[in-house]
Amino acid sequence: MVEKDYYEILGVPRNATKEQIKEAYRKLALQYHPDRNKSPEAEEKFKEISEAYAVLSDDEKRRQYDMYGRESIYEKYTPEDIFSGTDFSDIFRDLGFGFDLNEIFSRFFGGYTERQRVNRGGDLTYHLELNLEDIVNETVKEIEVPRHETCRVCGGSGSRPGTSAQKCDTCNGTGEVRKVQTAGFARLIRVTTCPRCQGKGYVITDPCKECKGKGVVRRTRKIRIVIPAGVEDGHTFRLKGEGEAGENGAPPGDLYVVVNIRPHKLFKRQNSDILLDTKLNALEAAVGTRISVPTLYGDVMLEIPAGTQNGEVLKIRGKGLPKMNGWGKGDQFVRINLFVPTNLTEHQKELIKKALKEK
Ligand SMILES: [Zn+2]
Ligand SMILES: [Zn+2]
Repeated sequence: MVEKDYYEILGVPRNATKEQIKEAYRKLALQYHPDRNKSPEAEEKFKEISEAYAVLSDDEKRRQYDMYGRESIYEKYTPEDIFSGTDFSDIFRDLGFGFDLNEIFSRFFGGYTERQRVNRGGDLTYHLELNLEDIVNETVKEIEVPRHETCRVCGGSGSRPGTSAQKCDTCNGTGEVRKVQTAGFARLIRVTTCPRCQGKGYVITDPCKECKGKGVVRRTRKIRIVIPAGVEDGHTFRLKGEGEAGENGAPPGDLYVVVNIRPHKLFKRQNSDILLDTKLNALEAAVGTRISVPTLYGDVMLEIPAGTQNGEVLKIRGKGLPKMNGWGKGDQFVRINLFVPTNLTEHQKELIKKALKEK
């Protein structure tokens, strides 16, 4: 999802003067204003150029944008704030268009007004199950996420292409209805969400066939996600805009991918260290031996010193997990659980007895 540069959108150089920016917007607005151009692409384009103009025509916003980009504009300003500082009316009046921005935005810019922001698409959570073996190295996982996406036929407007939504005449486009009740001398004004348009302020009179006027369709999407080595259990990745599409062109929600590391049948994880419990014949521990132990990187030989006690923990350096936010790897710890053999032959028992009598 590459977002175009505001200067590119308006077709002006980065050092353009305010006059150049205004002139460029004027020309484009003439071409794409919804009063003149009824195609859904034009709505999208009009929204784009208006946003670019709103930001670049305001010194402070322009400086913010030049330094930190579009993301920072969205972080710092609400959609309304982006537009509120800009006077479009003189431009629109010159061009002979209606200039009630609120009206235009509520009809065409779903998501830009306070009331409609609640229609932003929902966030999704995806639980990504991984094995310890998966996170030894950085890995790329492809996940399939079913979600609602903006309808491509109508561009999310919900209206059949070539038609547009009509202002709701029940609420006159406000999305609210007021009822005045009289109780004795008191007059109560009750404000409720408009039942006809459900608060949207507009109604779709000629719905898009593909999405039945919803503006969204259900689709399963494949998303590739890079999982850093050593990722923690419960770590959450936020993929902005990959959640549910908003209704009627409102912005999409986000996708949260939560990592769940499955329990391992041998290894226990402690941050970047790995703990392994292993059984060992007490007689072998008494005299010392070498045993083969599994690690996430394959089997390694571990030296058991003579006289190793039950519960003692030996370290294999560097066989833990990579540290996600640092350098190097953790270690593997091997806890020795001694057992006394019960299957010795008579001959073995005799030998041990004899050996134990030695002083
Ligand atoms: Zn549609
Ligand atoms: Zn209404």
